[in-house]
Amino acid sequence: MQYQSTRNPDLSISSSEAIVRGLGPDGGLFVPESFPHADLEGWKGLSYPALAEKVLEGFLTDYDAAFLRDAAEKTYGDAFGGKAGNLVRVHDGLYALELWHGPTCAFKDYALQLMPKLLVQAKKNLGRHETTRILVATSGDTGKAALAGYAGLEGIEIEVFYPNAGTSEIQRLQMATQQGDNVAVYAVEGNFDDAQTGVKRVFGDAEVAKALEARNIRLSSANSINWGRLVPQIVYYFYSYFRLVEQGGVQWGNPVDFCVPTGNFGDILAGYYAKRMGLPVGKLICASNKNNVLTDFIRTGTYDARRTFYKTTSPSMDILISSNLERLLYHLSGSAEKVRGWMQDLAKNGVYTVDAQTLAAVQENFACACADDAQGAAQIHERFAQDGYLCDTHTAIAFCAADSCRDGAPVVVLSTASPFKFPRDVLAALGEIAPESDFAAMAALTARTGCQAPQSLKVLDSLPVRFNTVITPAEIRDAALK
Ligand SMILES: *Cc1c(COP(=O)(O)O)cnc(C)c1O
Repeated sequence: MQYQSTRNPDLSISSSEAIVRGLGPDGGLFVPESFPHADLEGWKGLSYPALAEKVLEGFLTDYDAAFLRDAAEKTYGDAFGGKAGNLVRVHDGLYALELWHGPTCAFKDYALQLMPKLLVQAKKNLGRHETTRILVATSGDTGKAALAGYAGLEGIEIEVFYPNAGTSEIQRLQMATQQGDNVAVYAVEGNFDDAQTGVKRVFGDAEVAKALEARNIRLSSANSINWGRLVPQIVYYFYSYFRLVEQGGVQWGNPVDFCVPTGNFGDILAGYYAKRMGLPVGKLICASNKNNVLTDFIRTGTYDARRTFYKTTSPSMDILISSNLERLLYHLSGSAEKVRGWMQDLAKNGVYTVDAQTLAAVQENFACACADDAQGAAQIHERFAQDGYLCDTHTAIAFCAADSCRDGAPVVVLSTASPFKFPRDVLAALGEIAPESDFAAMAALTARTGCQAPQSLKVLDSLPVRFNTVITPAEIRDAALK
C-alpha cells in the first residue's frame, strides 16, 4: 500500500515514510491510495489487539507482521485494563463506545499509545538513526497522551508546552508528574495560541534545524494530521459493530450510525475509512460545540473560519481549522487540484466553498448538529437521570447531536473522555455546586453518582511533581535547542 498527498497524487511513498514525514512537502496530508477490504466474517470474533493487528496489516504493508502483532498486543492488552473498545447500552437504540479506559483517560490514547511504536519501527524500516525530538503544544489532553506514549522510547525525546494557568488542575498534574528520562514539560506564559505559535515558529526556524542536525537530532510533531495517529482509530469502529451485533443492538449486516464529538476531524474520519473498508455504517454524525464551523460546512458547502473563537466546557473541540477535513475532501472530490485550491483559499481568505458534487457526497455520508455548553450540561443531567449513564462534557455534545439526527438506525456515540477528567463541569451539570479543587470535585462526583474515578487520576495529587518551569513564548526556542 502506497500513500499519496492530498495536494499531489503523483507522490507515492511507503507507510513508514508517511509516518516519519508527517506532512507532505506541498503542505498536503498523506492518504492511502486505496482501502483494504474488511473480512467482516473473519474479524467478528477477534479480541481487540488481534483485530487491531488485522486493520494495521492492511494499511502498514511495509511493516513486519510479527512487529504489528506484538505492538497491538502491548498497546491494547493490559494498558486498557481489558476495556479497549468497551460498548455500553445507554437506552434502546443508543450506545456509548467508551474510549477512555486507557492510561490518560481520553480517546487519544488509542492513537498515541501505538503511534510512537510505529514511529520507532518506521525509522528502523527506513534505516534512519537520528534522534527524533518531538515538540507538542497542547491545551491539555494531547500533551499528556503524547508524553505517556513516547516516554522511555529509544531514539525519541519529547517536549511539551502548555499554557500556564490555561489547563485544568488535573491536566496540569498529569503532565507535571510524567515519568521518563526522555520527557520535558514547560508551562508557557500566555494562552494556548501563544504556546502553539511559539512551537510553530521553532518548526519553521532553519537555524534551529541546522543546529540540531549537527547533533543528529530532527524535530517532529505528534499532532493528529500524522497518518500514524489516524490508522489506529479505525479499529474501534469495527470492534464496536461486532459487539453491538452480539448485544442484539443490530442485525448482522444492517447499518449503524456513529456520532462523534469532533474537533480536528480525525476521529470521525477514521469512521469514514471503516465504511470505505466495508463496515455497514449508515450516517456519520459530526457533533460540534459552539465552534460550529463544521456544522455550517456540512449544511452549506462553505467552510468559513472567519468567526469568533469560543472557549467552551468541551475544550478539545474548540477548533476553527479542522485539519483532517482536507483528507475527506480529497477522497470525495478525487481531485488534488481542487483540494489545493480550497486550502489556498482557506489560508489566504479564511474561507472556501466546495463544488456541488463534493457537497452532495459529503451529505450522503455525514449528518451534523451542534450544541452549546448549556445544552451539553442539560444532556449530562438527562442521561444520568433517565439512563443512569454518566458522561463527560465532550461526549455530552455528541449525545445532543445524536438526539437531533436520529433516523431509526441504532446510534453509537463515541465517548471520548472520562467524566472524571472534567469533574467540576460534570458536577455542576448534575446541579451540584462544584468545589474549587478538581480532586474535591472528583470525590463529590463519586458521592453523587456512585461512579468511581479512574485510579490514574485519583493518585495524581500524591505523585511527585517533576516539572514546574515557567517560560516565555520566546524561550520555547531555547528549550527546543537544549
Ligand atoms: C481530541 C478530542 C476530541 C476531538 O477529536 P478530533 O479527532 O480532533 O475530532 C473530542 N473529545 C476529546 C475528549 C478529545 O480529547
